[in-house]
Amino acid sequence: MKALVFIESSSDYFKLIRYAQSLFEEVCFFTIGSEDMLWPDISSPIFRVLKKDSSYHPCYFSKIVSDLYDQEKPDVLLALDHSSNRDFLPGLSMSKKASFFSDVSEVRLQDHSLFIQKPLYTGKLSAQLKVLQKPCVILLNPSALPLTQKYEKGTPQIQDIPFEPFDTPIKKITRVQSSQVKKQINSAEKIVSGGRGMGEAKNFELLEKLAETISAAVGASRAVVDAGWVPHHMQVGQTGTLVSPKLYIACGISGAIQHLVGIQGAQVIVAINKDASAPIFKKSNYGLVGDVFEIIPALIKELSKA
Ligand SMILES: Cc1cc2nc3c(=O)[nH]c(=O)nc-3n(C[C@H](O)[C@H](O)[C@H](O)COP(=O)(O)OP(=O)(O)OC[C@H]3O[C@@H](n4cnc5c(N)ncnc54)[C@H](O)[C@@H]3O)c2cc1C
Repeated sequence: MKALVFIESSSDYFKLIRYAQSLFEEVCFFTIGSEDMLWPDISSPIFRVLKKDSSYHPCYFSKIVSDLYDQEKPDVLLALDHSSNRDFLPGLSMSKKASFFSDVSEVRLQDHSLFIQKPLYTGKLSAQLKVLQKPCVILLNPSALPLTQKYEKGTPQIQDIPFEPFDTPIKKITRVQSSQVKKQINSAEKIVSGGRGMGEAKNFELLEKLAETISAAVGASRAVVDAGWVPHHMQVGQTGTLVSPKLYIACGISGAIQHLVGIQGAQVIVAINKDASAPIFKKSNYGLVGDVFEIIPALIKELSKA
C-alpha cells in the first residue's frame, strides 16, 4: 500500500515520518515552503514544494497537493489533523473521489486491509473502521503519534518542485497573529492552562509568569474563553485545540470530559485544584490540592531557582 504524507515544520514531523514508515510498504513525503527544514536521513522520497511564503492559502495548498496526488497516485494521503488541513483536504478528497477520515487516533494495516480507529462521543467510545474505499485521506490526531519508533535510515532523495503563485478568488489582506510572541498551544512541549478557578481575566498574568518560568505556552478551559477572559485560540479541548505536550499543568480546571478529550495526548498531567474530588485528579499524574493563588506563586519561586 502506498502513502503520500504531508510533513509540516511542526515538532511532530519526525514522529509522523517514523509512524508512516512503520505502517506502509511504500511511502513518500512532501512539504510546502520548508526549504530550511531539517530532514532526517530517511530512505523514502521527499518532495519539497518551494513556495516562498509557507503560510497557509487554501487555493495554493489544494493545487499543490492535488498535483502531487495525481503524480503519485497514493492509496492513502496522510496528514496531521489541524485547522488548515481540515479546511482544504475534505474538498480535495471529494474531487479525487477519495474517502475522508478526520480525528483518527490509530491507523493499522492487517492482511493488506486498512483499519482506522477514531473516538466517538467525545472519547467515551472508539470506533474501529475497516476502510473499504481507497484511495482515502486520513487526518491523524497528533496525540496519536507514538514517541519512539525507529525509522529506516538511508540517503534522502529530495526532489525540489518550483511553485509559481497564480490568481485566486481568495486574497489574503492581512495576517492577524494575536499570539505572535507567545508560544502556541498546538505545538508546545509544555502548557500551563487556567480555568474558572483562576477567578478573573487579570489572574492569567500569574499563569503567564509560571509559563515564562518553564518556557511553556498558556492554554485555557472553554469556561474562561466563553467568559471572554482569553481568546479562543487558547482553548484546549473538544471544541478547542487537542494538545499533546510533554507536560500539562491544569490550574483551577475541574476536568470536564470535553476538556479531558483535548489533553489525552499529554504525557504528564499536573492538576492544581482546591476541590480534592475534582475529576481532573483522576486523569492526573500529579495532583496538588489547594488554592491556585498560593500554589502557583510558590511554584514560580521554586522553579525560578532551577
Ligand atoms: C459541546 C461542548 C463542548 C465543549 N468543549 C469544551 C472544550 O473544548 N474545552 C473545555 O475546557 N470545555 C469545553 N466544554 C465545557 C465543559 O463542559 C466545562 O464546562 C468546562 O471545561 C469547565 O471549565 P472549568 O474547568 O474552567 O470551570 P469549572 O467547571 O467551573 O471548574 C473550575 C474549577 O476550579 C476550581 N477552583 C476554584 N477556585 C479555585 C482556586 N482558588 N484554587 C484552585 N482551584 C479552584 C474548582 O474546584 C473547579 O474544579 C464544552 C461543553 C460542551 C457542552
